[in-house]
Amino acid sequence: MTALKSAAQHTGKPKLAFRPLPVPQVDVRGFWGDRVDAVAARTAEILYERCVEARMLEQIDPDRPSPGVVIPFHSPSPDEAANPGFTGSTVTTQMFWDSDWGKTIETAAYSLYRRRNDTLEKKIDAVIDLYGRLQQSDGYLSSWYQRIQPGLRWTNLRDCHELYCAGHLIEGAVAYFQATGKRKLLDIMCRYVDHIADTFGPEPGKKKGYCGHEEIELALVKLARATGEQKYMDLAKYFIDQRGQQPHYFDEEARARGTDPKAYHFKTYEYNQSHKPVREQDKVVGHAVRAMYLFSGMADVATEYGDDTLRAALDRLWDDLTTKSLYVTGGLGPSAHNEGFTSDYDLPNETAYAETCAAVGLVFWSSRMLGMGPNARYADMMERALYNGSISGLSLDGSLFFYENPLESRGRHNRWKWHRCPCCPPNIGRMVASIGSYFYGLADDALAVHLYGDSTARFEISGKPVSLVQTSNYPWNGAVSIRVEPVAPVAFTLHLRLPAWCRKAALKVNGKAVALDAVLSDGYAAIEREWQKGDCVELDLDMSISRLFANPEVRQDIGRVALARGPLIYCVEATDNPGQLHRISLPRAARIEAHHEPNLLGGIVTLSATGNREASEDWRNGLYRAEPPALEEARVKAVPYYAWDNRDSGEMLVWLREG
Ligand SMILES: [Zn+2]
Repeated sequence: MTALKSAAQHTGKPKLAFRPLPVPQVDVRGFWGDRVDAVAARTAEILYERCVEARMLEQIDPDRPSPGVVIPFHSPSPDEAANPGFTGSTVTTQMFWDSDWGKTIETAAYSLYRRRNDTLEKKIDAVIDLYGRLQQSDGYLSSWYQRIQPGLRWTNLRDCHELYCAGHLIEGAVAYFQATGKRKLLDIMCRYVDHIADTFGPEPGKKKGYCGHEEIELALVKLARATGEQKYMDLAKYFIDQRGQQPHYFDEEARARGTDPKAYHFKTYEYNQSHKPVREQDKVVGHAVRAMYLFSGMADVATEYGDDTLRAALDRLWDDLTTKSLYVTGGLGPSAHNEGFTSDYDLPNETAYAETCAAVGLVFWSSRMLGMGPNARYADMMERALYNGSISGLSLDGSLFFYENPLESRGRHNRWKWHRCPCCPPNIGRMVASIGSYFYGLADDALAVHLYGDSTARFEISGKPVSLVQTSNYPWNGAVSIRVEPVAPVAFTLHLRLPAWCRKAALKVNGKAVALDAVLSDGYAAIEREWQKGDCVELDLDMSISRLFANPEVRQDIGRVALARGPLIYCVEATDNPGQLHRISLPRAARIEAHHEPNLLGGIVTLSATGNREASEDWRNGLYRAEPPALEEARVKAVPYYAWDNRDSGEMLVWLREG
């Protein structure tokens, strides 16, 4: 690992970078320990096996016959087929198989820190060997364009995910190198990126393109940080700067293919956030995952280059997302049509698309916004997406997945084993397996604690090794004890997040109360001192239950209430609440109690209250009548949203009727 020095020197601006701790430097226990164990014990292997079953190994193996098109090209609707300019038929999810391998390799890499697994490691080594043999002498590497559609490389960046696939393989390569010390895939990808840098860039003679599905930008930042190669960082910045510039690359590229740019399946370049240069964007639009990956890359580049123009755009986009288009679960992108955003306050519950990958992408973006310093505005949202709308996508045992994460179900939305577009399983797998790296941000003279949970972190500050032990039953209990163990006394600032959901907090250092008002900035308490071995910080976050209400502009949530406790959003499930859930109502005055249930769903805190239910009485086959239905008292029980559909399948509801 080589430290990058030159990025900040390029602009001359100081770089105030809080960098995440590498995955192996944080051991998580408790809540996240269970999640990581499930991924290491099951998900990582399952991802590999499902990729093989889907015939992905055949596609990358130059010694076997090409599998051809296994997943059909996108079938056009009759209207689309009648349009001679329709180009949607050029796309199949099979084009993205390299990305599924990339994320599978990345998940396996992080899992190996948790649990040695020689069998899995050998399988991944074999996949990497195949990529090594597939790579062309000029460095180019795409199993789709080499094996299925030869001769067409770099002809349709808009639709075909070529650079996106490279990005995921880069992320896999960096993670696998860091986990195993094996450089093979890293070297393969450096050769490929050298080829990409020769092909794209501002210099005359190079293509002025960028990917229709963002991803390579953030991946190049990772590669630059891992290798110390400034060229890779500059390429990330180029792709971001070039996006949406005129003349529009996707127009020119379509004409070069002999098609009309206006025949674009998604009609507008808002779909892939290339409708405007990124610094002019102020509205979160289009495909949700693409948007989150772009903003993640922008945040990385803003941090590395000290670029305030990018930062200003990101803050506008952040405001837009979080005040108009985000589900209470941290899910995003309500529409299946564009897998993305629609209009302000359009947040339907039952039909919510809210792709697992989009919430994972929000975690990526939020965590990168913390690179310029601790700010609870971002960390709170990271926590919301982490504990709710992202991990809802993975069953508790790590074997089954959700693609869509609705906030209401009539019982027919259930977890599946695999999907013909399998982007979500390895995405949630890699995020969970690397959760330790989201806990902290380390700067030259400061450590920020973004997330709480039973864990041990090891890091070095001012050249002195320090371990930091969190003892806590978070998120079930808000008491967090932090023991700081430097090998020798060392001065640094410890920043502790005080979540916005917490209405009352108390902080003590070595038993002495600290006045929070005096040390609070951007939602973090800053404790500046020379830390000695055995120093102890105690933080007590009140975890009273909250009723959450939506802005009345959200038509689907009017007159409804959602329950939350700490970072967790709750839902009711049919298995705990017999009968149809839409009949339930919760009076404003109802007392809600929390109960720890160690034997339920891996050990959770449930919420319960006495509510009302519209009775099952005899309507004599009538549909309407002048008399309202009778009400009966009903015990209402709620479980954390992330844990739903892990028992008998049935109805689920987040937003309960109030009254
Ligand atoms: Zn996905």
